[in-house]
Amino acid sequence: MRELILIKNGEIALKGLNRSSFEDILMKNIRWRLKDLGAFKLKKAQSTIYLEPTDSDSFDFDEALDRLRKVFGIAMLSRALVVDKDMDAIKEAVSAYVEPVLSGAKTFKVESKRADKRFPRTSPQISAEVGGVLLKHFNHLKVDVHHPDITVMVEVRDFGAYIHAGRIPGAGGMPVSSSGRAMILISGGLDSPVAAYMMAKRGLALSAVHFVSPPYTSDRALQKVETLCEKLTAYTGKIRFYCVPFTEIQEAIKEHCPEELFTIIMRRLMMKIATRLSEQEEIRALITGESLAQVASQTLDALHCTDNATDLVVLRPLIGMDKTEIIDIAYKIDTYETSILPYEDCCTVFTPKHPRTKPKLHFVEQAEARFDFEPLLEKAVAETKIKVID
Ligand code: ATP
Ligand code: MG
Repeated sequence: MRELILIKNGEIALKGLNRSSFEDILMKNIRWRLKDLGAFKLKKAQSTIYLEPTDSDSFDFDEALDRLRKVFGIAMLSRALVVDKDMDAIKEAVSAYVEPVLSGAKTFKVESKRADKRFPRTSPQISAEVGGVLLKHFNHLKVDVHHPDITVMVEVRDFGAYIHAGRIPGAGGMPVSSSGRAMILISGGLDSPVAAYMMAKRGLALSAVHFVSPPYTSDRALQKVETLCEKLTAYTGKIRFYCVPFTEIQEAIKEHCPEELFTIIMRRLMMKIATRLSEQEEIRALITGESLAQVASQTLDALHCTDNATDLVVLRPLIGMDKTEIIDIAYKIDTYETSILPYEDCCTVFTPKHPRTKPKLHFVEQAEARFDFEPLLEKAVAETKIKVID
């Protein structure tokens, strides 16, 4: 028995002349994600990628599908049987192949697609004939063309005919790295991992920067963030992870700046360091997990102050979302349980009692200028530890 996986492109299919380059990136991502699952070939034609294992009997299709469901750029996936482009061959093979799914169903329909117009039956003719075969073979089944339990698909395409009984929704979005690379400022909280996921979905490859303040923050807190990154890699591919020592900077802010501006100045210095780290790679944007009005440092005035600390585009995919919406995604991408572990973040270490909710850039810049942070910023960048998480 020859089986393969049909991978239907999502938004890429709408691209014009450069569609092929998007498809190539998607194919590269697919190869990378399945590299340890055994040999397979990839071919593309008509907005579909064909993934055919060299040995389909030993190939772990379930694991492959599970991974592919998290690869951005894919609209739909199907595990399918390959048969000759011949009506008799299709009719002979169909019952046995779809038996596991149809035996538990009450109603079904057959849908056909004839991409190869040389095939001597129209799509409705294929559906009617195959439907007849299935009704004969499974006495308990009825046809329901509007709301069937199962839709059996017959696709007659360039390289062969394919039979399958279920489409699995893909992750949507654009292939990771087709939009370039950005740097996520990641904490151990709920929001930033979701922000990372959302921007990877729009085709960004990710680097991540995390600020630690030992001894105020622990190794376990850092480990938690690395675990979050590991979980994200199922969607984002490998992540270059920068760990920045931030203790001295935080202590200097506490000593030299007004308490109510502590958080906003800290956030600005984080942006400055992230911007410098970005120069070492081709990074064109920073990403944060901020959501408008969630906390004092996320008002419009505060965001204006943070934006001004960098020349890079600042992406905030959660800006218009409620916490409950963010949590729903955190569950879906399996970061929720890790995010709620109660370890401290450097942001919470020196939180002022009464943070300024409407900081004016002019005053913040003045307050910041009372101390020369430059040597500390340089030192933090120099002492940053880098590793690749995949
Ligand atoms: P999160 O749930 O992502 O922690 P939050 O709602 O707790 O966000 P803040 O703590 O105010 O909000 O942080 C706002 C954003 O600043 C975070 O979403 C993240 O992008 C960034 N950030 C906060 N702490 C750190 C850190 N220690 N290292 C890197 N980035 C951080
Ligand atoms: Mg936080």
